[in-house]
Amino acid sequence: MSVEADPRVLEGLEHWRTLPVTQQPAWPDREALERVTGRLAGLPPLVFAGESDALRGQLAAAGRGEAFLLQGGDCAETFADATADNIRGKIMTVLQMAVVLTYGASLPVIKMGRMAGQYAKPRSSDSETRDGVTLPAFRGDIINGFEFTPEARTPDPQRLLDAYHTSASTLNLIRAFTTGGFASLLRVHEWNRGFTANPAYARYEEIAAEIDRAIRFMAACGADFDALRTVDFYSSHEGLLLDYERPLTRIDSRTGLPYDCSAHFLWIGERTRQLDGAHVDYFSRVHNPIGIKLGPTSTADDALRLIDKLNPSAEPGRITFITRMGAGKIRDLLPSLVEKVTADGRPVTWVCDPMHGNGITSASGYKTRRFSDVMDEVAGFFEVHRALGTVPGGLHIELTGDDVTEVLGGAEEIDDAGLARRYETLVDPRLNHQQSLELAFQVVELLRRS
Ligand code: PEP
Ligand code: MN
Repeated sequence: MSVEADPRVLEGLEHWRTLPVTQQPAWPDREALERVTGRLAGLPPLVFAGESDALRGQLAAAGRGEAFLLQGGDCAETFADATADNIRGKIMTVLQMAVVLTYGASLPVIKMGRMAGQYAKPRSSDSETRDGVTLPAFRGDIINGFEFTPEARTPDPQRLLDAYHTSASTLNLIRAFTTGGFASLLRVHEWNRGFTANPAYARYEEIAAEIDRAIRFMAACGADFDALRTVDFYSSHEGLLLDYERPLTRIDSRTGLPYDCSAHFLWIGERTRQLDGAHVDYFSRVHNPIGIKLGPTSTADDALRLIDKLNPSAEPGRITFITRMGAGKIRDLLPSLVEKVTADGRPVTWVCDPMHGNGITSASGYKTRRFSDVMDEVAGFFEVHRALGTVPGGLHIELTGDDVTEVLGGAEEIDDAGLARRYETLVDPRLNHQQSLELAFQVVELLRRS
């Protein structure tokens, strides 16, 4: 039997429209927008409510120290880059990191892509000026084009449909790759052997050899590697563009409750987490697990009020706090936040985003980050939780499977001049494939020291 939604629930899903809303485009043609959102509302959901429920249970386990979240992908996906090679590269990277982390933490790793929907970007300025010409800022492929022309930069609702279809084809490939044997533990392990064979990564050979022995031990014990051919891989993006999230919100026929079926997990960004704002209201009404970014200006009181709004019933796994303090600040700012939220007693899962507090501009003008700062923030995250006896529940990383040169450092020592070689991101700099694996191996080293 299918359960209908209470009419008050449906009304509630429109309440955000009456509240202050930040970071939305100025659509030039409201009628065109409404045609598109009407069409989106009639298309199939991209994910199922039951899958989001399963993820909520796993995130609750991560909050208790019984699992660990690895969330990774581009700062912003683009339509042009939604190719089989790119998608496969990102999945491989996340899976390879996950094997290393599973071994290092002796915990199941929850694998989640910043993928299949990460098309909208918050911007610090609504416009951009070049050579005296001012145009709307690029807000991601779901809204406008990157090219600096009036045509490209005008928000175009047709892009919402393009985003939906690109998400659908990305998810289709993710599901095929992660259930068709491609993601089997033995294969992923072989890829990692290829990585550590490179002399630049000799430092990690010892850990890689240990993993190899562990896998051979499992095989000798008769482990069912066939059962390890399939992995769960969840999708996530910033729930920024409410004109997209609303039509993809569907009523779960089992319970009559709304779920945002554009992704398994949505997070509220640092710029849109106002307590009385539209985003917090909207996501308080859908039943997915929800992330909230907490930057260096967040207070414990902010965090507690966010829990009041988003998780009044204290459901485990519902809220993930993704802290992004910066390497220089995390050891000072995180302890009191974690302490006060822990004292409150309602469960949350703590995840570290070591990317967004560590942006710099290189001498040659690239927006970049230092690999060493990223690692230092991760180290600070583990230190703080260890000192408090609380649980470091996971990592949130901007990465790609390609050999780009966007982040400084790593064993292959990308320097300022090296950034120009292959700097491709339209927004924030990403760890490349090798840097991502290095991060995973260094996390294992950190866990050993603790
Ligand atoms: C992001 O995750 O790309 C982002 C913009 O992060 P934040 O909201 O933490 O600044
Ligand atoms: Mn980013």
